[in-house]
Formats: sequence, structure tokens, C-alpha cells
Amino acid sequence: MNAFDNAMTQLNTAAVLMNLDPSIHNILSHPERVLEVAIPVKMDDGSTKVFTGYRSQYNDVLGPYKGGIRYHPNVSKDEVKALSFWMMIKCATVNIPMGGGKGGVIVDPKELSAGETERLSRGYVQKLWRNLGSDKDVPAPDVYTTPQIMGWMRNEYEKLVGYADPGVITGKSLEDGGSEGRSFSTAQGGVYCTIELAKKLALEPKETTVAIQGFGNAGSHMASILSGLGYKIVAVSDSKGAIVNMEGLAIDVLSQHKQETGSVISFEGTETISNEEILELDVDILIPAALEHVITKENVGRIQAKSIVELANGPTTPEADKILHEKGIVVVPDVLANAGGVTVSYFEWDQNVKGEHWTEKVVLEKLEKIMVDAFNTVWANKEEYAVDMRTAAFVSAIERVAEKM
Ligand code: NAD
Repeated sequence: MNAFDNAMTQLNTAAVLMNLDPSIHNILSHPERVLEVAIPVKMDDGSTKVFTGYRSQYNDVLGPYKGGIRYHPNVSKDEVKALSFWMMIKCATVNIPMGGGKGGVIVDPKELSAGETERLSRGYVQKLWRNLGSDKDVPAPDVYTTPQIMGWMRNEYEKLVGYADPGVITGKSLEDGGSEGRSFSTAQGGVYCTIELAKKLALEPKETTVAIQGFGNAGSHMASILSGLGYKIVAVSDSKGAIVNMEGLAIDVLSQHKQETGSVISFEGTETISNEEILELDVDILIPAALEHVITKENVGRIQAKSIVELANGPTTPEADKILHEKGIVVVPDVLANAGGVTVSYFEWDQNVKGEHWTEKVVLEKLEKIMVDAFNTVWANKEEYAVDMRTAAFVSAIERVAEKM
């Protein structure tokens, strides 16, 4: 199954469960618009290369399309369509007034110079600007796209339309209209979900053991915030391997070690294990925060965690998901657990269109309210329909979109 077929299977499951109006189900089975563009880029050696770019605008009944732009060799039309569908679900799950969108360019960004990356990014906007805007479609960073790229795109857009529209794109640097708190918003949203989950499972933070796969932006911030709240982080990993100490890790000293050596491994007082083994530890909460499809039908039988908080996008395959539910392992799904990122992107847009700048305290208060409300709505749906939290989140989201339609 390709990613879009997978997304449609999830839609169909929720539709049957909630007895969705067939016309709405039919409409939601198609993106409203998928744009494919050819972007010519003058390369540093004087030649011209043409890159294929996409923007899928899935549904905008709740607000302007919202979703990142990724630069990756594996980008495809089906993948962009699926990702824009999941953005619709994610925004509706946390009840923010944004629709679902996603973009991408088929390119290996590591092969481009800074100048070529800038010309490609400006070229993407030159081809798509008529369909973008703070009131139409608001992109953001995704895999291998950065605040600098967002800055080039905003600048190109404003040159073409002839007026300032800082809310046309989010994930900008602070100097360029970005929001306070954006850098750790995904982790912070995951933390609010974890706190609610701990309440439901009657877990005491100080006695709760946590393993985190991935120590990048999402994983390292999650580790340090949870550790500050008293949770016992017993294992973490990065691409070089994983470390474990069941007594708990001193995350601030570990972050220093990672900065100095480039990896978490060989941290004093820890045992080194593999990135597969970290997923199989006997912990209260497992947090995949690196790659997709790491919990599969092959290893799901060995998962001992009591619960999983999906900070990464798509870490669990549909087959494994079913087995986790049968085993009674609670999974807080990606569309909820990592929605803190898009929520603060929405705050950035909101500040830009109102000409405001909020303090970090205000951003975090608003984020907490949104995440706690969303978690509890999904939990209530899980109980009402007797399903896993992923299906419950889809039901919450589709109910909101369908009602507005
Ligand atoms: P990142 O690039 O900052 O970090 C990725 C981490 O994964 C790094 O520590 C890297 O060493 C590790 N890693 C790479 N290969 C690995 C492997 N084979 N095994 C274990 N670890 C490996 O990325 P990020 O921004 O932290 O994103 C991580 C996940 O969170 C992705 O799935 C992303 O889609 C999702 N996510 C991130 C955000 C965000 O705002 N950063 C928002 C929503 C979802």
C-alpha cells in the first residue's frame, strides 16, 4: 500500500465507526487541489536543472491550508497527498482553524550549494504564489527545509504580490517574524500529552521510566523537559546507537556530552545497546522521536512498554498498531502527540496577521490549553467507541471537519 492508500484506509475505518455521511466521506477521499510544477534552477556551473515540486491542498473548511514543504529525493505526488490529508487530521484533532496542506520538491538537498538552494526555494514560490497567502495556504518547514528557506520564500512571495504578508509562511526565524517557543513546541506539546497520559494511567512522574529513540530537535527537548518534571529518562538514542541506565540519566550532562562528542553513546555510567533494543526495553513510556516505521509486525511482539507517545511521524505500521491495541498498550498517536509544532506555527500565523508578538509564557499557556483539551477529547472518544487513540483522534478530527462542511 502506498501512503495515500494507507491514509484512505484510516479514513474509511473512522467513517464506518462514526456513520459518516457518504457524500462527505466521498469529498474527503480526494484532495481539493494538487499542484505539480517544474522549477528550472540555474546551477553554479552554469547549467540548468529542472526540479519537480508539489503542493497538495487537501481541505480548507477549517481555515487556510497548513503544512510543511519537504526537500527529499523520495518525495512523490502520493506521499504529498497523504501528508496533506494527515495535516488536515492533525489540525482538526487539536481544533485549530487551519486546513490540511503539504508540499515537496524531489531533490537531494545535500547536493545543492547555498545559492542553488536559495534559487530553488524562490523558484518554488514563483511557480505557486497565486495559490499561497496568509488567507489561502500557509507552508512551513519540514524534512530538510529550514527557517532560512522560509525567509527566502516569504521574501520572494512578497516581491511577487507587492505587499508585506509575514503570515504567508511559518517556521521563520525570530528576527523575521517567527514565534517564541517554536524551537521546542513539538516536544512541549508531547510533554502536555504525556502528563495527561500519566494521570489516566495513574503513573507518578518520579517512578515513571521513559525511553526515547532519537535525540534531535524533538527527542532532546522532550528528554530535558520531562526530566525537569521528575520523569526518569532511562534510555535515549541517536543514529550511532542507544544508551541505557535503568537508574536514570542526567539529561543536562548528557546534552553537554552530545554537543562535545556528536553522539549520546559512550556517556559515562551507561550501557550501549542498539536502536532496535531501545524499543524493546521494559519501560512505562516509550517515545519514538526519530524515524517512521520503526515499530513493525516483526518487532511488535517484543515491545514491553506500557504506553507509547509518538513524537515522530508514522513510527508505527498499521499491522503493528493493531497488535499493540490487542496487547493493551496505549498509543498516543502522532496526529495528537506531535501537534504542538503545528499549533505554535498557527500561533506564529495568528501573531503575524494581527501584528502582535507574544511572550514565551503566553505561547506556552495557549499551547497547554489546546493540547490538554485535545488529549481529553480524544480520550473520551476512545472510551465511547471502544477503539485505540489513533482511531479516536481520526473520529474527533473528521467530526469537526464534517460538521463545518
Ligand atoms: P532531527 O533531525 O532533529 O532528529 C532526528 C534524530 O533521530 C537525531 O537524533 C538522529 O540522530 C536520530 N536518528 C537518525 N537515524 C536514526 C536511527 N536509524 N535510529 C535512531 N535514531 C536515529 O529531527 P526532529 O525534528 O527531531 O524530528 C524527529 C521526528 O519528529 C520526525 O519523525 C519528524 O517528522 C517528527 N516531528 C518533528 C517536528 C519538529 O517540529 N521538529 C514536528 C512534528 C513531527
